[in-house]
Amino acid sequence: MNIENLLDAFDIKHLFHPYTNTIKPNYAFKVESADGCNLNLCDGTSLVDGTSSWWCAALGYNHPRLNQALTTQLQKMAHVMFGGLTHDSAINLGKKLLEYLPKSLDKIFYVESGSVAIEVALKMAMQYQIAKGHANKTNFATLTLGYHGDTFNAMSICDPIGGMHTIFKSVLPIRYFVPSPTSCFEDNFNTQDLDKVSELFEKEGTNIAAFILEPIMQGASAMRFYHPLFLKGLQELCKKYDILLIVDEIATGFYRLGKKFASDYAQIVPDIMTIGKGLSAGYIPLAACVCSDDVAFTISSHKPYAFMHGPTYMANPLACAVAHEALTIYQEQDMESIILNIQNILTDRLSIMKNHPFVKDVRVLGAVGVIETHDNINVNLIEPMFIKHKVWLRPFANLIYTMPPFIISNNELNQLATAMIEVCDEYYHKMSK
Ligand SMILES: *Cc1c(COP(=O)(O)O)cnc(C)c1O
Repeated sequence: MNIENLLDAFDIKHLFHPYTNTIKPNYAFKVESADGCNLNLCDGTSLVDGTSSWWCAALGYNHPRLNQALTTQLQKMAHVMFGGLTHDSAINLGKKLLEYLPKSLDKIFYVESGSVAIEVALKMAMQYQIAKGHANKTNFATLTLGYHGDTFNAMSICDPIGGMHTIFKSVLPIRYFVPSPTSCFEDNFNTQDLDKVSELFEKEGTNIAAFILEPIMQGASAMRFYHPLFLKGLQELCKKYDILLIVDEIATGFYRLGKKFASDYAQIVPDIMTIGKGLSAGYIPLAACVCSDDVAFTISSHKPYAFMHGPTYMANPLACAVAHEALTIYQEQDMESIILNIQNILTDRLSIMKNHPFVKDVRVLGAVGVIETHDNINVNLIEPMFIKHKVWLRPFANLIYTMPPFIISNNELNQLATAMIEVCDEYYHKMSK
């Protein structure tokens, strides 16, 4: 295999990729097609995808039923504006979502990306507090080690060190950060984790519109799983101080951690929830912000008597149609046991790395398997090694992780686990030479 054959000169010269330099860009390998769990590269190499294309292609690629849903909708219409118009695609997805969502969350705002869903959630919380007469409740609290997207307000609630705060510091709103819970998912719960929240609310609660966090898994900043009792306790504190709870289920929603929503582990229902990624199974960009009737009613009963947001591509019919089919497919299967099987295999296979000299921690929950190393990984160095093992993985910082499509076979999953183990070891030996 020659890496050069997988690159494209035009791409290198003209196209930005996520978080990359245009002068000396990291590799971007050319994909010709994709089906099932396979990414087929332009030189004929097939890779088992361990990333679900940044966690969204939960049903893999070229899925006959998703393709069909999309082409059927395409015959009717690709898009119409949502201002003053509506359509079955949005309505049917809404009905389907209500089958998934906790009963009290029954108002849905469709958007085209997770970051925008976050912006919408923050705006909802603020309009709610203004409507309640809490004019000072305009700021937000969150955890360190969080990730909520790349737009300005989303950035402001990302981890202040690992996030993009430094470069944009002068324009980012200053938020309240509580240290990420020390109690891991499987540990005993350390109630001191909540003390920091109480202290903050006691001191600054009158300025805080909402607490926003990723439930159970802090993903793109840390790949950490924290204790459900933190979430439970947080909700009680939020209620006490009239602070809304926003749970960002964009990465965790629709079974990624083994439950429909990660909040289910704590048996809590937030006031506002954001969803995305697995929602449209990686086909067409789609996310949503859902809220309780109380939040929607309060906002709507007060000046300006409307929730002030309305994107051009709101409720895109193609996206809604494919999401409806994805949610139907999840529903037809016993997703909890499918995810448990993935969790068992990953736990069984990856635990061998616990005592490796390069490895700090190994953790698995649901369909997420993580090897945390002592040092940061150079992606450009490690990617060709994964390709040699015929898998696609995308480590960041010091995290080699997989979030495979749920349709992955046991064989493919074992191939991924083997590649994670062997490449981690090869990389370590290469670096320590
Ligand atoms: C990916 C992600 C986002 C941002 O979604 P985009 O669609 O990339 O804008 C927000 N929150 C969480 C938890 C995410 O994982």
